[in-house]
Parts: sequence; C-alpha cells; structure tokens
Amino acid sequence: MSHFKVNEKDLFFILKNQLNYGSLCRLDRYREIDEETLDLLVNEAVKFARTEIAPLQDIGEKWGVVLENGEVRCAPEFQAVFRLYGENGWTAAARDPEYGGQGFPHMMRIVINDLMYGACQAFNMAPSLTHGAAHLIESFGSRELKERFIPPMFSGQWAGTMALTEPQAGSNLAAIRTVATPEGEHYRIKGSKIFISWGDHDLAENIIHLLLARIAGAPEGVKGISLFVVPKIRVNPDGTLGEPNDVFCNGVEKKLGLHASPTCLLNFGDQDGCVGYLCGEAHNGLAHMFQMMNAARINTGVSGMTLAGTAYLNALAYAKERIQGSDLAGRKPGYVPIIDHPDVRRMLLWMKATVDGMRSMIYTGAFWSELALELPKGEEKNHFQALVDFLTPIIKAYCSDLGFKVCETAIQCLGGYGFCREYPLEQYLRDSKIMSLYEGTNGIQSIDLLGRKMRLHGGALFKSYLAEIQAFCRKQAGQPRLGPQIQALSAAVDRLEGMALTLSEKMKSDPLQWASYTYPALLCFGDITMAWRLLDLAVIAQNLMETQGENDFLTGKILQATYFTGTTLPLTLARLETCLRSGREVVEMPEGAF
Ligand SMILES: Cc1cc2nc3c(=O)[nH]c(=O)nc-3n(C[C@H](O)[C@H](O)[C@H](O)COP(=O)(O)OP(=O)(O)OC[C@H]3O[C@@H](n4cnc5c(N)ncnc54)[C@H](O)[C@@H]3O)c2cc1C
Repeated sequence: MSHFKVNEKDLFFILKNQLNYGSLCRLDRYREIDEETLDLLVNEAVKFARTEIAPLQDIGEKWGVVLENGEVRCAPEFQAVFRLYGENGWTAAARDPEYGGQGFPHMMRIVINDLMYGACQAFNMAPSLTHGAAHLIESFGSRELKERFIPPMFSGQWAGTMALTEPQAGSNLAAIRTVATPEGEHYRIKGSKIFISWGDHDLAENIIHLLLARIAGAPEGVKGISLFVVPKIRVNPDGTLGEPNDVFCNGVEKKLGLHASPTCLLNFGDQDGCVGYLCGEAHNGLAHMFQMMNAARINTGVSGMTLAGTAYLNALAYAKERIQGSDLAGRKPGYVPIIDHPDVRRMLLWMKATVDGMRSMIYTGAFWSELALELPKGEEKNHFQALVDFLTPIIKAYCSDLGFKVCETAIQCLGGYGFCREYPLEQYLRDSKIMSLYEGTNGIQSIDLLGRKMRLHGGALFKSYLAEIQAFCRKQAGQPRLGPQIQALSAAVDRLEGMALTLSEKMKSDPLQWASYTYPALLCFGDITMAWRLLDLAVIAQNLMETQGENDFLTGKILQATYFTGTTLPLTLARLETCLRSGREVVEMPEGAF
C-alpha cells in the first residue's frame, strides 16, 4: 500500500502564480518549450511518482539490502523502476540533448525530485546520484569520457555515486588519503571510502564512482585533491563492458532509516587493479565536486520538505477520520473527528504553512538558479548567482531540520498510532533525520553562511538577499489585509541585517564565540525567508480573491501566512537577540564540567 501524498494545487500555485515558471520558456535555451509542456511534465512526474515509485517505499523498507559474497542485492522491484526512470527520461530531464538529456529547464529537476523523493526517498537517491555524477562528467570531463560514460548513465543502464568520505575525512575533506598514481592515459586508484550511498547494488549493469583522490605526490590539503571517474566494471573504448575494476564492497551500514538505500564501505584497488580517469583539472577536484555537492545540498532541503509534505498530508487524512472527544464549544453533538480540536488544528496549520513555505523557498532558489545559469553575462546574472549561493546553506540546513520537526509533529497528531509501524509516519521521521547530517552537517552549513557567504565579494551576496526581501516589503507594506504582517517582516529584516553584520565582526575578534552562535543565526535567516515566501503567496491569493471571490484554497494561503508570521517572527526576534549575546559560556565551559 502506498502512503505517498502530494497536493498538486499547492505545487502549481507556486510554480505558476508565484514564480511564473512559464516565463522561462522565453530564455534562448528553451524557445522550443511552452508552459503547457512544463505543466504536462509536472503532471507526468506526479503520475510516475504515484504509480511506479511510491510502492517501493514499503517494499524497500521490508527487504532492506543484502550483502552476500561482496555483492549487494536490493528488492527485485527496484531494478525495473530504475531502468524505467532512465528510459522515460526522468534522470536527464534537465540535461542537454547532446548526451541523451531532454533539454527541460534546470529547475524542473528540483520539481521532479520533490515528487520522486516524496514517493520514496531511499530509491530516488539512486537516479539522483546518477544524474549528479554524469553531470559532473558533462561539465568537466574530456569529450571521450563524456561519450563513453554519460549516455548509459542517463538512460538507466548504469548508475553513479559521489565517493568523497573516508574514515578520517568526514566534514574535513582536506584529509582525504585515497591515492591516484599516473599510469599512461589513466591512474591507478588505491584507498577506502565509507558511507557511499548506492555504492554497490544490482539495479544497473555498472556503477560509475565520481571519486576524490590525491594524485601521488600532490600537496596536502584541499589544493591537492583531484576528481576521478572510477567504474565498478571497466569500460572498453567502444563502450562495451570489460573486466571487473577491483572495486569491492566491504560492508553495508545498518542505519536508523533509509533501509532500502545501501550505504557502502568501498575498497578501491586492494589488488592494485583499479583504474580511474582524471575528470577536469588535476588538483582542482574539490572545486569541481562542489557542482554536485551544491546540487546535493539543495536536494537535501527538497527531501526534508517533501517528506514533511507527505507526512503532513497523512496526518491530515487521519485527523479527518479519527473520532475522539467532544467539541469544546458544543458546535457538534456526540464525539467529533480530532480535526475539530484546536490543538490538533494548531499542529496541522503549522505543518501546512511550514511545508508550503519550504517548497516556495526551494522553488524560488531553483528559479534563481535557472536565471543565474541562462541569462547572458552581466549584473542581473551575477545578482541571481549571488542569491543562489547565499540561499543554498539556508535551504539545506533549515529545510532539513524543519522537515524532521514536521514529521515529528505529524506523529503527534496521530497520537499513539503515529508511533506504530502500521502507519507510515515513523518511517518518514527516521528517513528524514539523515538530511541534517549528510551533504555537510547543518552546523557546517551555518559556518558557511555566517562566515564565507556573508563576506564573499565584500558582502555582495548578503546585500542581494536583503534587497529582494526589502523590495517586497516596500512594495506591499500598504497591502490592506496583510500590511501589518509585512511591516513586521520588514522590521525583522532590519534586525537580521544588524545581527548578521555584528556577528560577522565577531568572526574576526572572537571566532570561537562567533562559531557558537552561527547555527541559531542560520535559523533566523530561515524563519525570515519563510515569512517572506508565505506572505508573497498570501498577497497573490488576496489579489486573486478580488477577481475570483473567496474560496478555501485562497483563504488557506492567507491564514497560513498570518499564522506563521504572527507566531514565528516574535520568536525569531528573540532568537536574533540571543545571537548578539556577549556570553562565552559555550566556549568557556571546562570539558570536565560537561
Ligand atoms: C546514510 C549516509 C549516507 C551518506 N552518503 C554519502 C555519499 O554518498 N558520499 C559521501 O561521500 N559521503 C556520504 N555520507 C557521509 C556524510 O556526508 C558524512 O557523514 C558527513 O559529511 C559528516 O561527516 P562525519 O560523519 O565524519 O562527521 P564528523 O565530520 O566527524 O562530524 C561530527 C560532528 O562534529 C561537527 N563538526 C565536524 N567538524 C566541524 C567543524 N570544523 N566545525 C564545527 N563542527 C564540526 C559536525 O557538525 C558533527 O556534528 C553519508 C553518510 C550517511 C550517514
């Protein structure tokens, strides 16, 4: 039985009414596409997610993964869907047709992932990693590498991974020790990688690892790291499969969640027989890998949001059916469905607002990213790139943490049944916990945001971000129904600016004290971005009401925004103050006192 739920109307309201995503078809690259085609793509993705992917959620959870004689086996149903996913064009929907892509706008990749991750997070990691790995080759590989590796990856014949982490190199990739020794046209790879998602499996004929290693004799630190294409099975120049490439799976992690996704310990070159190909510039591999890591960070936010979305809709369905207690105000006789109780409605409204706000935040980031990639060189392009760079750690950390909290609240809505395996919510909770950990922990994201991103290009990224929200506040401050909330947002943005600049100064004067407040500061950025996106949706709904009249859908957009801003922004302001404390307790606490 599938538990996947999505409200397409919410999704299209953001895409069409808030972002006008059809306007992308005016960009040179998409002249052949129109808005109707984009709508069709979204509807087909919903259908594919519901019919093909969603059933894998329960199947995969029950089967798990099996490691036998060095080979990983997954639930048999996964193989056919992985192949179909590639054949139907989902893996490469937003890639250039030159190597088998469908040529849709880049942002459609995010919309597709929203649906597919929501249907089965553990499964969708496989095609999503395959896409990211092939796209790295597309961006940095030689023509020969591209021709040999990309088409079978896009078509669902082969899979891909990102192979970075080593036992001593988790958050700190500068400590990578895997070695690549030059040998003619290729390199010999030797080393161990841990925690590699979909590192081994039986879904595809071959697995192509995009691996970070140090060329023998390269300098220490990040500058000495290079990117390699390392197949599980060697690939002949004509594209046929050759000998095994001395890549072995030495273990599969037993995890809290994502039981259907094999998280592998991989040994490369134990028998000195592992061949890899340099992808891009020698010693510049980490910079290249950031293309995949940044996309993966956004996708982690997508996962947090979409798991929260399906958890919320499951809780909503339950709340309409579960009869318990009487109506407090005596409006209905007898016992009532729990959705009638204000405390349950409080949770439902918070979850609804949070999911819609996160989706709007993420789709807005994806839209900006499209403009940053496709606009001609110039100020406007730079502005959108600055926005994307600034928003990436906020999307990653805020949406992953909040996604987990929504799953927890959804369980609370169900009462004791939420805690039981018979209902899907405990699995969403377990699966969503990983989002705050991988792709750079949320603590690391906060350091990136309040450190590097705040200061980059003389603070230009931060200024671009503030300018967007301030322009909205200025334009809409007089809005008759939403004006007070918009003015409250404007005041919060001013406080945020002051806090972020003051904190930035502390980075120089007292870096340890600074680093003990970066995470709560990131949450303030997240709250304010959410309030902005929700109020924007509410203004659009308010304007539509004037022509269409009132209806539940539009009323919902207004009430979720006034509720979120009214109950969250006062807490955000208090948190902003705490970020300005001069207290050094976190730093001064003696280790022995913990
Ligand atoms: C299920 C799963 C799937 C994964 N998939 C992949 C994959 O496909 N490919 C891949 O390469 N890796 C993968 N990883 C690895 C993942 O990216 C790492 O676990 C993550 O980067 C954190 O590294 P670590 O676990 O070694 O934690 P550590 O780096 O040891 O961190 C432990 C704690 O210390 C904090 N910390 C560490 N350094 C700092 C610092 N400088 N400042 C402040 N705080 C710090 C962290 O925030 C964290 O709270 C996966 C991991 C898991 C669990």
